[in-house]
Amino acid sequence: MSQPAAEPPQRVEVHPGKEVVVEFDPALTFECIDECTWCCQHGVLLYEPDFLELANCASLSEATTQVRGQDFVRKEDKDRDEHVGEDGQACFFLRDDGLCSLHAEEDWKPARCSVFPLSVAVEDGDIHVSVREKAREHCEGLHVSERRVIDHLDAFLPEVLWELDDPATRREL
Ligand code: SF4
Ligand code: SF4
Repeated sequence: MSQPAAEPPQRVEVHPGKEVVVEFDPALTFECIDECTWCCQHGVLLYEPDFLELANCASLSEATTQVRGQDFVRKEDKDRDEHVGEDGQACFFLRDDGLCSLHAEEDWKPARCSVFPLSVAVEDGDIHVSVREKAREHCEGLHVSERRVIDHLDAFLPEVLWELDDPATRREL
């Protein structure tokens, strides 16, 4: 018996006039798990608008580093056992209680932090969105709630992505 044909990727308007091509299962649900913090145990790429915004709430010389000409929030050794990676490190802004100090105290975080656990690629001028491979392995928030990702894409994909020369998320520290 032949398999049913796979559904074609769906175009979704995320912000007025700003669309993406969705390449993940529309039934996918997500809710971030407070105790997890896996995605905050790394350095974070800062797009130029994020770098400028960060200057308003942190010391860039303390909190960021440059790798191959690109700016990242640096990760650092943490003097604790929780909310750290296997190397004992985590993002500069990850507090002892597992909260992001930028998000908790400034109500803001870099675009890359909003996008996780999704992944962004650009094909023929369109932004394509899928689930990041490492997230499938490590993110505890997938498939644990009723909150469909496709209905809340504006929370994952800040408008700044459409202003960038290269919004692709393949670059890592
Ligand atoms: S900036 Fe905040 S949300 Fe982003 S990785 Fe660091 S602690 Fe996590
Ligand atoms: S890996 Fe997933 S569940 Fe864990 S903190 Fe990041 S987004 Fe939340």
